[in-house]
Amino acid sequence: MNVIIIGAGVIGSAIAYYLSRKGIGATVIERCDTACAASGKSGGFLARDWCVGQPQDPLAQLSFDLHTDLADALETDYGYRRVDTYAMALSDRRSFSRSNGLSTAVNWLNNEGVVHQLLGDTTTTAQLHPERFTRALLVAACTAGAQLRPGTVGSVERDLVKNQVTGVTVDGTFLSADAVVIAMGPWSHLATQWLSLPATYGLKGYSITLAPTTPVTAEALFLDYEDQFGERHGPELISRADGEVYLCGFSGDDPLPLSPEDVSIDDTACDRLRVLAGRVSTMLAESTVVQRQACYRPICEDAMPIMGQIQGTRDAYVATGHNCWGMLNAPGTGLAMAELISDSQASSIDLAPFAPDRLPPLHH
Ligand SMILES: Cc1cc2nc3c(=O)[nH]c(=O)nc-3n(C[C@H](O)[C@H](O)[C@H](O)COP(=O)(O)OP(=O)(O)OC[C@H]3O[C@@H](n4cnc5c(N)ncnc54)[C@H](O)[C@@H]3O)c2cc1C
Repeated sequence: MNVIIIGAGVIGSAIAYYLSRKGIGATVIERCDTACAASGKSGGFLARDWCVGQPQDPLAQLSFDLHTDLADALETDYGYRRVDTYAMALSDRRSFSRSNGLSTAVNWLNNEGVVHQLLGDTTTTAQLHPERFTRALLVAACTAGAQLRPGTVGSVERDLVKNQVTGVTVDGTFLSADAVVIAMGPWSHLATQWLSLPATYGLKGYSITLAPTTPVTAEALFLDYEDQFGERHGPELISRADGEVYLCGFSGDDPLPLSPEDVSIDDTACDRLRVLAGRVSTMLAESTVVQRQACYRPICEDAMPIMGQIQGTRDAYVATGHNCWGMLNAPGTGLAMAELISDSQASSIDLAPFAPDRLPPLHH
């Protein structure tokens, strides 16, 4: 079976990986580089039970368990580890008492702010390095027969009589396929010109990584930060296995550029993150900034992923809109999509809640 996957983010790479486990060597087409967008710049935070009550809860639970299996199966160190996760309050307008018992739980959070709740422990929360994880998936897929092809897909081609996918054009060259998967992240909105798909959007977020001179312990931190104007923000701080500390927060409203290479980085937002890091930890105040970055997470109208067959065109599939949980939910998505493509039905989870046609198509 000749499957083309458009996009080498974590979702396209996970689908290629699980297809390769079934003996199907997909062709993954990527316009820039593997994990060049959100899949390389995200937090890489994973939680087993933070989607309870939402349609994606079974996907999250399955994915969290698959992450444990993958950490062994991929035979690559991509910084996967279980962590304790805390909530911290920080305000520009008032100070908090640090007498709370949890304030000493994380010894490197020794400056402002108060740690007030354990949100998850090593049975329910974990983390990984997102770019290395995405690459590890794709390398393993390629070792088992998949291939990565550089290029920009300009259209999906169809046999209009049979209502069936025939292939894609990559930089003007036609490539035939038995099945095509749209895994273009926020750029999946371009595919609404080719196939009957709902709108997808990109939400911009900034992040930095810091290199403390003294290593900090394995914890993740979710901040409730009130700025001087009373506006609330939710930055996330994650200490990584490679010794760096990742901090994301502050969104931007710039429109999604045509290519990930053109995503602009706002120094003001990154500087603000850097100041914030120093305010919660003296060790981070003294650390150097390694990366300043920005990326767009893919989101649909109802903030749930779209995953499954595309209405009206046989052998056309989509998997995107994973919003703030794409790193977590990539394994379950990859497995279920591989089952759907190879066996005509996903057996690991019910994909019905994610059916693309639950939302109105943009064009068509
Ligand atoms: C700041 C931030 C922090 C985050 N933190 C977390 C976290 O801690 N945990 C978590 O689970 N999730 C997190 N997320 C969400 C997660 O990063 C995303 O859901 C996930 O990366 C989306 O992956 P994707 O493969 O769908 O898209 P992308 O990573 O955007 O990949 C899409 C790929 O498709 C390629 N492409 C697009 N168009 C074409 C074309 N025409 N031809 C060829 N290639 C094309 C692009 O170049 C790109 O490489 C975070 C997101 C952000 C923005």
